[in-house]
Amino acid sequence: MVSTFIDDDIVLASKTIAFWNASASAQASCLHRLVLTDNLQDASLHSVHNFSWSVSHCLCSVGYHLPTQVQSIPVIDTNTVIAGLEHQASLSWNNLSSNPRTAPTKNAKLCTWHNCFRPFNTSNPYFLLPVSGKRMKRFLRFRLSCHSLPIETGRHHRPPIPRSSRLCPHCPLASVGDEYHLVFECPIFQPLRDKYHTLFSARTSSMRSFFAQKEHDCLQIHFRLFRHDKHLELII
Ligand SMILES: [Zn+2]
Repeated sequence: MVSTFIDDDIVLASKTIAFWNASASAQASCLHRLVLTDNLQDASLHSVHNFSWSVSHCLCSVGYHLPTQVQSIPVIDTNTVIAGLEHQASLSWNNLSSNPRTAPTKNAKLCTWHNCFRPFNTSNPYFLLPVSGKRMKRFLRFRLSCHSLPIETGRHHRPPIPRSSRLCPHCPLASVGDEYHLVFECPIFQPLRDKYHTLFSARTSSMRSFFAQKEHDCLQIHFRLFRHDKHLELII
């Protein structure tokens, strides 16, 4: 299953290719076709970094190569390009650690997203839920490690604080102050866990499964847990 961001890439690629192919198939007198033909020749003959150059460059990155010498606009095989995008996305998950806390520094944030927030499916995208932009922004920031938990602020400290030393300042556990600690460990939030105890079970004991609960979409879980807590409001 591909991730949500590769879905976005596929939508963008599909629309771009649809425009490209429509222009390629248009009548010879069509303005779009004339402009794109000229644009493509500039890119292929004179290496001008224009729209056609960008399309060609992106296609090359997924193993799809346009002819270098063109007299007319080549039609692009959409399915082949999308298959290339999906394959490229699948490579991103190879060799990632299963534990964000012990993952190598390189790709640590990607590891966090993969292990904690990557959706199991994309049939009901959380980012399309009918909530205010402010709420959605805060939720997206949390999912993307764009928050003020110690695991993130320590990264921006100069010099950076080692990840194992980015501890939660709100409890005596001396645990890394990351997303997992916030949701499952930190005793300061135990009253919230008790209040919403049905959300916490053996079945939802990982971040990824917790935020993928079907009976309550992950966004609602997030705000049911945290909306009344002023302390949490300050740090995410
Ligand atoms: Zn804590």
